[in-house]
Amino acid sequence: MKLLKKKIMTDGKVVNDALLKVDSFLNHQIEPELMKEIGREFAERFKDAKVTKVLTIEASGIAAALMTALYLDVPLVFARKKKSAVTEENLYAAEVYSFTKKETNRVTVASEFLADGDQILIIDDFLANGEAVLGLCNIVEQAKANVVGVGIVIEKSFQPGCEKIRKAGYRLESLARIHSFSDGRVNFMQDDTK
Ligand code: 5GP
Repeated sequence: MKLLKKKIMTDGKVVNDALLKVDSFLNHQIEPELMKEIGREFAERFKDAKVTKVLTIEASGIAAALMTALYLDVPLVFARKKKSAVTEENLYAAEVYSFTKKETNRVTVASEFLADGDQILIIDDFLANGEAVLGLCNIVEQAKANVVGVGIVIEKSFQPGCEKIRKAGYRLESLARIHSFSDGRVNFMQDDTK
């Protein structure tokens, strides 16, 4: 997605050889117009997948996932990383190791929001080792729902997540695919021309 890649080039900050900071438009301050275009693009790519719900993980996946859900005209559910103040009895849960925080979170979704037979599109902001996405896939399977695809805003293709997701048989669509970071610059995959 050209607009997104342009934004990453101008506003993204390479922190080290594995981490990109995009706090000015995605992870802290959020640009609504860009999120709108991201949502439109995911909705277009998954328009034939008969999606019934979008699923993401709090917090930074929510903006892109919400816009996608809006364009697909389906609800958005986000998995929680913290316990709700109100005790929930029936939860689906998965352990997810956080790439950025280096800690394991128990992520949960109330069972009432995922139904047997739901066609789930998983959306997240970044893909690194695939922990977050595979944790969400696990939750979807517990609900006997079906993962119809995974949409990622920024895929770091040099890390193992993309390979793991494809190997597990899930359709993966990433809007920007990063080959590497070098000298503080972002290098996109050669074949990332969409
Ligand atoms: P994974 O679970 O695939 O290892 O990592 C994905 C999660 O870690 C995303 O939900 C995102 O919040 C965070 N993450 C991974 N890599 C980056 C990165 O380079 N920059 C930022 N800002 N977040 C990242």
